[in-house]
Amino acid sequence: MSAAAGQSLTPSTRAVLRFLGTGTSMGVPTLACDCEVCTSADPRDRRLRPSVLVQWTEATEPDRQRTVLIDTGPDFREQALAADLRELDAVLYTHSHADHILGLDDLRPLSYLHQARTGEPMPLYVSEETRAVMEHVFSYTFSPESTYSHRARVALRQIGDGVTIGSLRFEPVTVLHGAMEIVGWRFGGAAYLTDVSAIPEASFAQLHGLSDDLNGGLDVLVLSALRHKPHPSHATVAQAIEWAQRIGARQTWLTHISHDLGHQVTNQSLPKGIELAWDGLSVEFRLNAEFGSSAAQNKQAE
Ligand SMILES: [Zn+2]
Ligand SMILES: [Zn+2]
Ligand SMILES: [Zn+2]
Repeated sequence: MSAAAGQSLTPSTRAVLRFLGTGTSMGVPTLACDCEVCTSADPRDRRLRPSVLVQWTEATEPDRQRTVLIDTGPDFREQALAADLRELDAVLYTHSHADHILGLDDLRPLSYLHQARTGEPMPLYVSEETRAVMEHVFSYTFSPESTYSHRARVALRQIGDGVTIGSLRFEPVTVLHGAMEIVGWRFGGAAYLTDVSAIPEASFAQLHGLSDDLNGGLDVLVLSALRHKPHPSHATVAQAIEWAQRIGARQTWLTHISHDLGHQVTNQSLPKGIELAWDGLSVEFRLNAEFGSSAAQNKQAE
C-alpha cells in the first residue's frame, strides 16, 4: 500500500497521494499541552497542519513528474523540505481557513521555477470564498497596485466544474464545514475531503466505492475526523466511519486529527479498511478510474 517518495510509477496508470500533514489546525503536539498524545514517542502522533501532494507520470512525458498540492498550511515549508518538493504544477484549495492557506508565501521559490519553466504564474484554484480571503490576507501578492518585487508568481483561478492537469481531472465535491460550503476534491480513484461536518446527498453520487462499479470505485478516500467529542464544524470519528462505510472505498484514511486521538490506540478501534493517516504516508491510486456522472452515462450508453 505505501510507496516511497520519488518511487518510479508505471506511467499513466497509477498515482501517489502523499500526506504532508494530518493534524488539526493547532497541530499535534499542541503548544503547552502535556497530554499523552502530545508527549507520545510514536512519530505518527506528531501531526503538521493538513495538506496532501498528488504525484504521477504521464505516458507521453516519462521524464517529468506531475505534482499537484492541495492546500498550503502554516507548515508548508517544512513539509515541502521533507518531501523534497522541487516542482509544482498547481495548487488546489479546499477553503480559506488559516491552517489551509497561510503557507502561500513559501510557494515563492517554486513559483519562480514554475514561471521560468512554463512562462506562466503558478495557478492556484480557489472558490469565490477563498479568493476573497486570499486577496485580502495576501493583498501584497494579489493587488494590481502591489510593488513588492519578491511576491509569489501565482494567479488565482476559478475551479468551475473542475480542473484538468495533464490527463488527471480534479472535480470539486461540495461538503459542509459548519455553515460554510467548502471544496473537497475527487481525482482518478481518490478523493480528499477535509474539514467536513456534513456531506450533502448530491455529493455522495461523486463518491462511489468499489462495490458500486469495479471500474469507477474509489481506491482511496481521505476524510477528516477530528476527535470523538462532537464539534460544530468537524466530523467525529464515528461520523467519518459511517460515511466511509456508505461510500465503500477500498481504503479510507482519516486526517485533520486532534491530540484527543492517539495513533495506535485509535487505529486498533477502527473497522477494517479505515485507518488514521500519518505525516509522510504515501498511498497509491488508479489515475484512470471513471467516476460520477461520466461513469453513470457510460453505463447507460452500453
Ligand atoms: Zn482545517
Ligand atoms: Zn495534547
Ligand atoms: Zn477549516
